[in-house]
Amino acid sequence: MIATSQIHKVCVYKNEENGFKKRAIAALPNEYIELMWGWVENNVAYVAAFVPIHHKATKAGAWWDDFEVDIQKAETENAGIFLLGSIHTHPERSTTELSSFDIKELQKRGELITGICAIEYKPTKNRLIYKCRFSYRPGLLPFEVEYL
Ligand SMILES: [Zn+2]
Repeated sequence: MIATSQIHKVCVYKNEENGFKKRAIAALPNEYIELMWGWVENNVAYVAAFVPIHHKATKAGAWWDDFEVDIQKAETENAGIFLLGSIHTHPERSTTELSSFDIKELQKRGELITGICAIEYKPTKNRLIYKCRFSYRPGLLPFEVEYL
């Protein structure tokens, strides 16, 4: 069993994150959440897949039933990847800090990595600003991230 403290860096497959970004923008103004699957090798976590999960969401939160996670676990059983954690958006907010609710949830789920994406509309620039952060517990400091 890998501990979060053993992870020193996160490598994210850019195409996968771009897919998440598109789905997250489509879900606006509500929050959006997906699961992150991958593996850990030499203290580096590889986020290889952002996988949609059936969930309920409002502007302030997103949640699912545990059996939805079990379904994905069963589907990936022989794929050589495992559940690293989840990633969710903070719509209309510029902060990628974990809220106290986020911390409670990720600890309950035992996530190795938690992603937060702030999506904020900047009227002066007429575009969406998208900022992603990958953190871990308990320090909640962002990991160094490399895009593949
Ligand atoms: Zn949050």
